[in-house]
Amino acid sequence: MAISTPTCSRCTKNRAVMVRAHSGEAVCKACFLKEIEDKVRRTMSRYKMVDSCDKLTFALSGGKDSTVLVRVIAKVHENLLREQVKKGNTPVAITIDEGIANYRDESLRIARDTCAATGIDQILFSFKQEFGMALDDMIKATSNNTFIERIGSKHAGGQLKNAFKVITKPCSICGVLRRRVLNDIAAGLHATKIATGHNLNDEAETFLINLFKGDINRMGRAASILFEEEAAPFVKKIKPLQDLLQQDVVLYLYHAGGDFQETPCPYAGDNVMRGEAQGILYGLEGGHPGTIFNIKKFMDTVYPLLSKPVSSGQLSTCEKCGAPKSKDLDECMACYYIEAICGKDYTSVMRDFIARHGS
Ligand SMILES: [Zn+2]
Ligand SMILES: [Zn+2]
Repeated sequence: MAISTPTCSRCTKNRAVMVRAHSGEAVCKACFLKEIEDKVRRTMSRYKMVDSCDKLTFALSGGKDSTVLVRVIAKVHENLLREQVKKGNTPVAITIDEGIANYRDESLRIARDTCAATGIDQILFSFKQEFGMALDDMIKATSNNTFIERIGSKHAGGQLKNAFKVITKPCSICGVLRRRVLNDIAAGLHATKIATGHNLNDEAETFLINLFKGDINRMGRAASILFEEEAAPFVKKIKPLQDLLQQDVVLYLYHAGGDFQETPCPYAGDNVMRGEAQGILYGLEGGHPGTIFNIKKFMDTVYPLLSKPVSSGQLSTCEKCGAPKSKDLDECMACYYIEAICGKDYTSVMRDFIARHGS
């Protein structure tokens, strides 16, 4: 006896390829792809993310999220991107090669292919080439007590030695440098927006982590990224995939015929709390489909109340690069890392890079 495949409940024509767990709805491939593209378009218009006067940059790692980000925007906003090009604001994808062995090469290839397929220009920044050290080398150099003692006493009178044990973790170094490099390249190109691939799961996880830590300041900063129109002194970030479930991002690539990297980052296990928050969300969503959407609905209501422009009162300015820094530190983290680990001056490295790639 043949098992009957359900018919798509949207078009009532095609064979369904999936049944939505939270709604029980059967959906075919064409209706699914359209649903995802419509959803991204709606999110972008709801938050007024881009217009034809913007100069848009994409944070393109080549992972599944950023690949879908570039592909979907290139498709649903084809005309808008063309308008931007006409105005001399050609959109650019920024790809950062941190230098993680057996992990990065595959996603670099996918990032290149994505740009070729969508006609989006790409700029590649390599830690090894610009800072003189790959992330792997930086982690090796910082993972001994001698380094922590030295950097801790040199820069903060030894009081921050414990703090330095935290900030020399792989995700801290990589996160700080990637965020800064991305921002500083975008700023150097006079970009008005940086689109990142954060999906609904990422946003809900971050919300839970900040809730579990009781960190209302960090939650306020996360809210500001979503709800404040200005991000000065940084380039404004937008998150067009913030209403897409992680599984839909993967399914979109699968059904749209896109390549994606399956190997996880070898340092991901370093971020213990995020892994735990992921586990909690998976468990809740599995037992109670729709939970993640409910969390997002809650965030959309509460975040505008928490979001506020970055207050200059809590921060001071890094004398070397002009970026905001903690009052407890002599320099910003990017300047610290590049000087202490690589023996280079962050500002000069970035200035040279922009001079070579800027428009
Ligand atoms: Zn259909
Ligand atoms: Zn600095």
